Amino acid sequence: MKKQYLLTPGPTPIPRDVMQAMARPIIHHRTPEYKNFTRAINADLKKLFKTEKNVLTFASSGTGAMEASVVNTLSVNDTAIVVMGGKFGERFAEICRAYGVKVVAIDVEWGHSPAPSAVEKALKENPGAKAVFMQLCETSTATVYDVKSIAHMIKKTSAIMVVDAISGLGSDEFNMDEWGVDIAIGGSQKAFMIPPGLSFCAVSNKAWGAIKKSALPKYYYDFNKYECLMEKSDSPWTPAITLAVGLQKALSIIMAEGVCEFTARHAKDAEFVRKSAGSLKLELFSKSPSNAVTAIKVPDGIDGEKLISGLKLKGVTFAGGQGDLKGKIFRIAHMGGITRHDLEDALRILKETLEEVTLS
Ligand SMILES: *Cc1c(COP(=O)(O)O)cnc(C)c1O
Repeated sequence: MKKQYLLTPGPTPIPRDVMQAMARPIIHHRTPEYKNFTRAINADLKKLFKTEKNVLTFASSGTGAMEASVVNTLSVNDTAIVVMGGKFGERFAEICRAYGVKVVAIDVEWGHSPAPSAVEKALKENPGAKAVFMQLCETSTATVYDVKSIAHMIKKTSAIMVVDAISGLGSDEFNMDEWGVDIAIGGSQKAFMIPPGLSFCAVSNKAWGAIKKSALPKYYYDFNKYECLMEKSDSPWTPAITLAVGLQKALSIIMAEGVCEFTARHAKDAEFVRKSAGSLKLELFSKSPSNAVTAIKVPDGIDGEKLISGLKLKGVTFAGGQGDLKGKIFRIAHMGGITRHDLEDALRILKETLEEVTLS
């Protein structure tokens, strides 16, 4: 079989050891054995999120945890400030509106990072805003946001800061407690190197204060139900047992490499992809490129969709553009289990394919 290169910003390739761990017979979750998994997972997740708080785990894709962060902290007619610089920023606004939360949008040109002053201005103009929602990496534009500077400003207000770090966590620098992020969200199919189906929320004391006042309806995602069982390494409902077993293995691989080293490797691989794109005379889309994924402009005269399908025939899967960027960019992920070797092969195949698509 020809080697397949899955270089998309979720799902990402799964290491063999993780697949083998998930292939073992399933165990029951109300057992000491499973609780050991839960305990180890929480301890390692804390290191990855850089927090002392528990990391709550949900059986859903990342969007479930995004929704959880809204329903647990807000009430109908509350105002939320939402950074909108791409598809995932828009998703936060959609979730807020679905629950009757008023959205003050900070419109950011796609591919740019929001100016901290724009967030400061929105907070000044909306002193009653209860929360600010933003991404660490806006995956649709492959742009990393300056969460650290923005967190610093939000800290001085009564608003909480919710960061969708789903694609950025592990790849881009992130420090929940030191920066003062109130809710940090993760998702399993990105740098975690496991299949889709798990999402995570780490919750600060300030956020727990907001949770006490929140009146939006919630049941499955009620943070309190999860948090009060964390002490016993238990969960309110049947957890995604197989994924949790895979996660424990994947986290042990990350911990063996070291969290700092893991993130540093992403930075180097991202740099390699950006440099290689430059030597192919390709232009980056983002003005603030993430270390999780690189967005490259489709060169003039080339059909972006054709390029992606041509690459697919050779075993290389890149993500195209979303929304208005469809056909205009393609995105190469370099997160989690994606190796330098994979990237070198894929960029060589990209060079060949670009030449073919240009000729025809
Ligand atoms: C992948 C991703 C999500 C979650 O999407 P799901 O399909 O629900 O897992 C959310 N935000 C960002 C920035 C992402 O990259």
